[in-house]
Amino acid sequence: MDDCIFCQIIAGDIPSRTVYEDEHAFAFLDVNPLAPGHTLVIPKGHHETLNDLPADEGSAVFSALHDLVPRVEAAVDADGSTVAFNNGEAAGQEVPHVHAHIVPRFDGDGNGPIHALFDGPGEMADEELDRIADDIAATE
Ligand code: 5GP
Ligand code: ZN
Repeated sequence: MDDCIFCQIIAGDIPSRTVYEDEHAFAFLDVNPLAPGHTLVIPKGHHETLNDLPADEGSAVFSALHDLVPRVEAAVDADGSTVAFNNGEAAGQEVPHVHAHIVPRFDGDGNGPIHALFDGPGEMADEELDRIADDIAATE
């Protein structure tokens, strides 16, 4: 994808602080970090969301994450990390090339868990929960 920022970073046409590269995955520091060490992990193929990502490339991204999370945390002496995908525009995804954020976390940083993003739907009826679970389980 010629006009994709992240494809241009992979190609070396836009500079980045690259921290990892293998056959299918690539990682670099976020230019506008939420915390020191904020790292993005992406598949080399251009796919907009997780929903579009072939399984083998998804496995490569997860394998890179598994490798990188402890390395990122160690590099900035973090106490943990928030690892997340903004998956789709509705979730706040701005760059349409699937990417995982590794955001280092520090004891007392006050930023809260992912749960802090949501008010939640309120109490849900058992029938509704059953229907949703059945629908998820029944689709491939
Ligand atoms: P999103 O909101 O799509 O989940 O996150 C996109 C991320 O990409 C943002 O955190 C933003 O700072 C980062 N980003 C956008 N453009 C560039 C760039 O050209 N270089 C780097 N290193 N990061 C970028
Ligand atoms: Zn791309």
